[in-house]
Amino acid sequence: MAARSFDMIVIGAGPGGYVCAIRAAQLGLNVAIVERENLGGICLNWGCIPTKALLRSAEVFHLMHRAKEFGLKANGIGYDLDAVVKRSRGVARQLSSGVAHLMKKNKVTVVMGEAKLAGPGRVSVTSDKGAEELEARAIVVATGARARELPGLEADGDLVWTYRHALQPRRMPKKLLVIGSGAIGIEFASFFNTLGADTTVVEVMERILPVEDAEVSAFAKKQFLKQGMKILEQATVKKLDRAGGKVTAHVETGGRTETMEFDTVISAVGIVGNVEGLGLEDAGVKIDRSHVVTDAFCRTGVEGLFAIGDVAGAPWLAHKASHEGVMVAELIAGGHPHPIKPGSIAGCTYCQPQVASVGLTEARAKEKGYEVKVGRFPFIGNGKAIALGEAEGFVKTVFDAKTGELLGAHMVGAEVTELIQGYVVGRTLETTEAELMETVFPHPTLSEMMHESVLDAYGRAIHF
Ligand SMILES: Cc1cc2nc3c(=O)[nH]c(=O)nc-3n(C[C@H](O)[C@H](O)[C@H](O)COP(=O)(O)OP(=O)(O)OC[C@H]3O[C@@H](n4cnc5c(N)ncnc54)[C@H](O)[C@@H]3O)c2cc1C
Repeated sequence: MAARSFDMIVIGAGPGGYVCAIRAAQLGLNVAIVERENLGGICLNWGCIPTKALLRSAEVFHLMHRAKEFGLKANGIGYDLDAVVKRSRGVARQLSSGVAHLMKKNKVTVVMGEAKLAGPGRVSVTSDKGAEELEARAIVVATGARARELPGLEADGDLVWTYRHALQPRRMPKKLLVIGSGAIGIEFASFFNTLGADTTVVEVMERILPVEDAEVSAFAKKQFLKQGMKILEQATVKKLDRAGGKVTAHVETGGRTETMEFDTVISAVGIVGNVEGLGLEDAGVKIDRSHVVTDAFCRTGVEGLFAIGDVAGAPWLAHKASHEGVMVAELIAGGHPHPIKPGSIAGCTYCQPQVASVGLTEARAKEKGYEVKVGRFPFIGNGKAIALGEAEGFVKTVFDAKTGELLGAHMVGAEVTELIQGYVVGRTLETTEAELMETVFPHPTLSEMMHESVLDAYGRAIHF
């Protein structure tokens, strides 16, 4: 059978791939997208969205326990884990079918099956219905990533889980070990701890949330400890022994090895790109530690072959994948898009308290040789935060003392994942302290703390 012909083929329908396909279709290209599992990829089905649905249940549960504080009565507070998970799966399903609708609306041809490069401009797709070939002048690899498995800590789905198992837990853990305190590990730790699991987090680096500003990590740790979590930093889980429905973790900390018993372990030690079985090496694509090597425009160096999103490396974030998707679609359609500025991609962790940041931490800015001005503003100085009963947290801003450029912003506290975008816009517009100070922030909002933090960097904070 002759190969079906397109202008562009996208492999993988996650937030990188499906957004790329839509933008290319808007620009008049005839696009096919190949997906082997679910439209929407990890993000909609096994990542961003279902975790946020679970965390929302935990947040409401937590608030119900605080009912009295708000003058309310709530008796017999409890939860039904199956129903919590059912809601989360339903939200994921709703969004995945939304992507199917968007593909149809934009006249993108969806081909379900496993894709593999089959020579220049050609992709073979295999499914239980058979095999077929597609051809196009441009191919975008957007195959995403999966959980990293470390030797001795491999998931079995029963006692040791990856994020996929943790999103559909078969039981409520009683004694839970979370290995890794990046965003994924901390979100699951926050969820299960709030629902009552005795939760321990082990982090190999010197502090939890290691990519965040040191003050944010320290503040978040204090809050997690208050919530009853146990945290071991500079500690390594060497081995997991599984027997009789229990896991014994061998944890190396401070030069000695301790053993600890758990009924459930979540391994959140990072992710690896889905680079295997695609014929990438044969096509001449360079791979570095499980990620496709690309330039600032997501070009692989092989004519007509691009890679976007998680498979193309850090930061492993949905919005980075989508933005790369749009940029590549515009490039392929003959446009002149700007490359992404990595320093303007915000990172958010939806634990309690939430954490959000963009740009350089104070330490990193100093390492880079900047003389900095730093502003801080605590939630306790904000009227809305107090009215909400969310007076814990702070907003920190880092400026270049010489030019006033906003180098970074770091927040911890209620709703900061919604606030951070204000600073992202600022950084995109290359804002300085002067414009931020001139900006009028609505009252009463949590966003006023963003203003006050800037004012504080210049000794002008009003409410603290
Ligand atoms: C638990 C968890 C929580 C997360 N929370 C957040 C968050 O809050 N915010 C955030 O920004 N990011 C979050 N992420 C990360 C986010 O999910 C990823 O960055 C994002 O999904 C990457 O998008 P992508 O399009 O590159 O790849 P994916 O979403 O991984 O999509 C890739 C798709 O390609 C398909 N595929 C792979 N190989 C083939 C093949 N050979 N043929 C056909 N199809 C193939 C896969 O089936 C998949 O559907 C989270 C991740 C996890 C695991």
